[in-house]
Amino acid sequence: MTAPIASGNLFILAAPSGAGKSSLIRALLERHSNDSMQVSVSCTTRAPRPGEIDGVHYHFLSEAEFKAKIENNEFYEWAHVFGNYYGTSRVYIEQTLAQGIDVFLDIDWQGARQVREANPQTQSIFIVPPSLEALEQRLRARGQDSEEVIASRMAKAQAEMSHYHEFNYLLVNDKFEQTLAQLEHIVFAQRLKVGLQQVRHAAKIKDLLANDG
Ligand code: 5GP
Repeated sequence: MTAPIASGNLFILAAPSGAGKSSLIRALLERHSNDSMQVSVSCTTRAPRPGEIDGVHYHFLSEAEFKAKIENNEFYEWAHVFGNYYGTSRVYIEQTLAQGIDVFLDIDWQGARQVREANPQTQSIFIVPPSLEALEQRLRARGQDSEEVIASRMAKAQAEMSHYHEFNYLLVNDKFEQTLAQLEHIVFAQRLKVGLQQVRHAAKIKDLLANDG
């Protein structure tokens, strides 16, 4: 008899732009490529940045397409973030979790609120940079943005960070390897919760608790 599949876990990773969130998710998935975890690819109405691929980094939609999906209740959550719409596919989340695969959502605090409400077992993680100076350095290292653009990104970052206390975990991304290890601890501890182990090891637990006679 095959063991019943325990539902996958849903994790939210939120951070201000420049805190290193994308690199952490990429490293986590590379390190555990055979380990039943995926990152959800969001829909957005913002234009692709150089190097971004439709279907890989985002599903790029027009505003009309996005609004039609809202009308059809196709989003698990959606939000208007700094002038553009972003949303997570409901069918993708439901089908992937049902296969026992853990899903990571790279979403903002508004989306995080909706996901927690829909799925209270969600574990939410907030990642901050070690200091404002480090954040500014990382934002500057990205390109040749004007002082005005940098200042606006810093203000957006602080607005996002002001919601850190709504999350279950807070990681300070000072040393990348250390933060990655902390993220792994959260994910693997979650997988060992009794409710999930009970399903995964149902036959074993039945044997262990069986009467002798
Ligand atoms: P960016 O445009 O820089 O890729 O993302 C801007 C912000 O939108 C980030 O904070 C990112 O986490 C958030 N975001 C990306 N996808 C989603 C989504 O599907 N839902 C929500 N609520 N936020 C998202």
